[in-house]
Amino acid sequence: MDSFDHYIGGEWTAPAGGEYFPSVNPATAKPWYEAARGTRADVDRAVAAARAAFEAPSWRDLSQTARGRLLRRLADKIGEHAEELARTETLDNGKLLREMRSQLASIPEYFHYYAGYADKISGDVIPAASRDILNYTMREPVGVVGAITPWNSPLLLTAAKLAPALAAGNTVVVKPSEHTSASLLKLAPLFDAAGFPPGVVNVVTGFGAEAGAPLVEHPDVAKVTFTGSTATGARIAAACGSRFVPVTLELGGKSPNIVFADADLRAAAMGIIAGVFAAAGQTCIAGSRVFLQRAVYDEVLELVCERAGTIRIGDPLEPETELGPVAFAGQLDKIEEYVRIGVAEGGRLLAGGRRPETGRDGFFYSPTVFVDTDNAMRICQEEIFGPVVTVMPFDTEEEVVRLANATSYGLAAGVWTRDLARAHRMASALEAGTVWVNTYRAMAPMSPRSGFKASGLGVEHGTEVLREYTRVKSVWINT
Ligand code: NAD
Repeated sequence: MDSFDHYIGGEWTAPAGGEYFPSVNPATAKPWYEAARGTRADVDRAVAAARAAFEAPSWRDLSQTARGRLLRRLADKIGEHAEELARTETLDNGKLLREMRSQLASIPEYFHYYAGYADKISGDVIPAASRDILNYTMREPVGVVGAITPWNSPLLLTAAKLAPALAAGNTVVVKPSEHTSASLLKLAPLFDAAGFPPGVVNVVTGFGAEAGAPLVEHPDVAKVTFTGSTATGARIAAACGSRFVPVTLELGGKSPNIVFADADLRAAAMGIIAGVFAAAGQTCIAGSRVFLQRAVYDEVLELVCERAGTIRIGDPLEPETELGPVAFAGQLDKIEEYVRIGVAEGGRLLAGGRRPETGRDGFFYSPTVFVDTDNAMRICQEEIFGPVVTVMPFDTEEEVVRLANATSYGLAAGVWTRDLARAHRMASALEAGTVWVNTYRAMAPMSPRSGFKASGLGVEHGTEVLREYTRVKSVWINT
């Protein structure tokens, strides 16, 4: 079994505590490598390396053009290692290899996109005072960024943090999820291979309380960016707030996917399926609350259940597999518990609700459809993060807007309609950082992503994120 150390200052570094922990392949339920169990001492070393790299002339004095060039070289290196990175993540979290290959095609785009901004980050001259005084602003990197990521899409979600953070001139310590350390450990050396000075990107593996919390609390970490659950996000926000450190939070969701009677119903049904069952439902943007207008309720529900029943479940490495396992045993237990709760609350199962017969030992769960649910039920309000969807009827636009917004989350929403005016009204009325009309799950590095309400704080992707990785200084000069 492979064993990985931390990646600190450009070197593989054994954990200070000498301990390692196993990571399990969810398709086989067997451990397939072990990673260093990080502690505060490891985080101290990684932050020191990132701080030293931030202050070293090789990074600090690098021209913005040269920084952009490094990011482009990194994008090429990722392209060269795409297949290995894709396979690693499939083995680690059970995502379909097919899907990972398409993610690996888009991950270099993040680095290309922000490489283009590396030499366009600048301040302004402000007409603030008399002609004897010059006032201008500088946009400076913040320093060492602490990045904490979840297990559902480690490479993609970390790329969305690293690319703008590095383009803005920061250095980074990443703490990946304890369930999926491998792909980031394979990515880290590519930064050095691309020519980044050692210490610009560091990876410390381990558990949240042991390695994540010390990173958030470290006095030399000037900015925290976190993607994960709302509960952990609240703890991290409090820790950052107490020491006035800016924080970006991309958190959970319970997104509505709404079908009006005038929609292309087959496309909508397929959008519902892809929206909630992709990655076995383990996406923050999962359209896990479906609302169908009453006139088409039966027809769309039938299409959804029919397709849910024929989804091919199995080995995520196989090209014909449509649904892989969930990422780890605890997640499977959590899904089963929610299905029990849903039944106890009065929900009726029309599909799934059980572990399928796959003949394999992995953590598989069947695509599950609940009806007779009420939006106030726990299964309609709490993030399950599995292949479970609740389907509810509605009559009017006003009613569905009220139901869709009646959640503490506000990450994403889908609307299916042929009525353009209604599409605009819905996009405006829905409380969500992303609204898709007649599509679901589309994303691109250049399009901002943010979570409203308990789904987050701040922005990722697009140009606005560059403000989150820089600080502004106003300079006044009496001429
Ligand atoms: P999680 O909150 O359990 O863990 C996320 C990361 O935080 C892990 O690396 C973990 O080790 C670390 N962590 C845990 N406790 C910590 C602490 N006290 N201090 C510092 N770090 C700590 O989340 P998860 O189960 O890994 O991921 C699933 C969640 O992520 C879901 O809620 C999902 O919706 C969310 N998510 C959101 C987005 C988005 O863009 N909004 C994208 C993907 C996933």
